[in-house]
Amino acid sequence: MSENRIFNFNAGPAALPLSVLEEVRDSFLDFKGSGMSITEVSHRSKWFDDVINDAVARVKRLLKLDDKFHVLFVQGGASLQFAMIPMNFLTKEGSADYVNTGTWSTKAIKEARIQGKKVYVAASSEDKNFSYIPCNIQFNKDAAYVHITSNNTIKGTQWASFPDTGNVPIVADMSSDIMCRPLDMKKFGLVYAGAQKNIGPAGVCMVIIRDDMLQVVPDNLPSMLKYTTYSDKNSMYNTPPCFSIYTCQLVMKWLEETIGGLDKMEEINRKKAELLYGFIDSGDFYTATAQKDSRSLMNVTFRLPSEDLERKFIEEAAKSGMGGLKGHRSVGGCRASIYNATTLEAIEVLVEFMKTFEQKNG
Ligand SMILES: *Cc1c(COP(=O)(O)O)cnc(C)c1O
Repeated sequence: MSENRIFNFNAGPAALPLSVLEEVRDSFLDFKGSGMSITEVSHRSKWFDDVINDAVARVKRLLKLDDKFHVLFVQGGASLQFAMIPMNFLTKEGSADYVNTGTWSTKAIKEARIQGKKVYVAASSEDKNFSYIPCNIQFNKDAAYVHITSNNTIKGTQWASFPDTGNVPIVADMSSDIMCRPLDMKKFGLVYAGAQKNIGPAGVCMVIIRDDMLQVVPDNLPSMLKYTTYSDKNSMYNTPPCFSIYTCQLVMKWLEETIGGLDKMEEINRKKAELLYGFIDSGDFYTATAQKDSRSLMNVTFRLPSEDLERKFIEEAAKSGMGGLKGHRSVGGCRASIYNATTLEAIEVLVEFMKTFEQKNG
């Protein structure tokens, strides 16, 4: 059954652990003896209650969250968070600091400005085509929050450690690297992640929010655009995306029970990334595009000597059972997304293919 599956290097939606997909399949027609699939049971049933509560409990254990944090499931993707964050946390007088590290940060800034909110771009890496993460940033002490994108899916850069923002809470878009390593949530007021990169299917965005952030949410917002609506109702004010949440629950179970937690996950991810970057750096046929100290563990971006060779590389890789290696349409080149579910074996097969391709075309 699984021998037709390819080595999937897609950026998102992206690979999920095979055992999770098998569990989805096996549970599909008769979920926990309900005689229904998870897409047919009521979201007000005990069956779904158990799913969402277990998903939340596992996220809290994996990230070692205390009771100050709430785990929410919101629709509209990470893109809706770009708009909800300024809507919920910025008053007319207030302002927020944003660090611009690429396409997604740029969109987050745009969504705040559309609403007439005051946004200060505290640092940007646009001067070098977003190939690095800025350091020694001066933040505004009175900012309502500092917004960063922890991993830049398109440019292949990632914050190795998080900036010191004093008492100002960090709000982070972790769509493409949440759960790739342990996380000290002390600095964060809010973390959000569209599920379809590293923790599940499309259709749901996980939001982790600290209590004090909820205190400032204004009353006069539409219900579906207010974080308090989700925190008050355990993400079930209206019908939640049940299937997506269920799959996220299974991914959290896989992280805890199969992988053994986020320390282990990081160890595996570092091994994978070192193997691939190590090979890319070992010659001059392939060139990594992100600066060394800013490289992403999740999205490895690289170029070949010409665009023709890049096209050929992507085509031949597909024929050899490796998909998703084309860079984002806005930047070109190649990109291997090597999220949690991508195995070390997949990277080994890719590196072997890259060696052979170089020998034939170098
Ligand atoms: C994919 C991605 C987004 C957009 O996510 P949607 O769920 O499609 O809105 C935002 N930020 C980052 C870092 C991403 O990788």
